[in-house]
Amino acid sequence: MLKKLAKKLFSGGLSIPSQNGFFLKVRCSSCGEMFNLYINKSTDLLQEFDDEGNTSYTLNKEIIGSRCRNLIHVKMAFDGSKKLLSREIANGEFLED
Ligand SMILES: [Zn+2]
Repeated sequence: MLKKLAKKLFSGGLSIPSQNGFFLKVRCSSCGEMFNLYINKSTDLLQEFDDEGNTSYTLNKEIIGSRCRNLIHVKMAFDGSKKLLSREIANGEFLED
């Protein structure tokens, strides 16, 4: 996994607001198994900086179900305020509410 610039800003006092995350619903394209993963924006997003010092965030998630060996790969991009910009998925599909 990527290890660059993953900083922990808060080392103590765990008080994470519940709105600081979202549910990621995906379905395995091989067997149809569905997953409902909670993504915590404080801990699951990887912070990145471009050449001009702008901040952005990415999420890379690999999911393996219990029914088959298909590896689902989710990749999401966020802006500096952690607003979703784009997303893509391999070996699976996104489910909407
Ligand atoms: Zn599967």
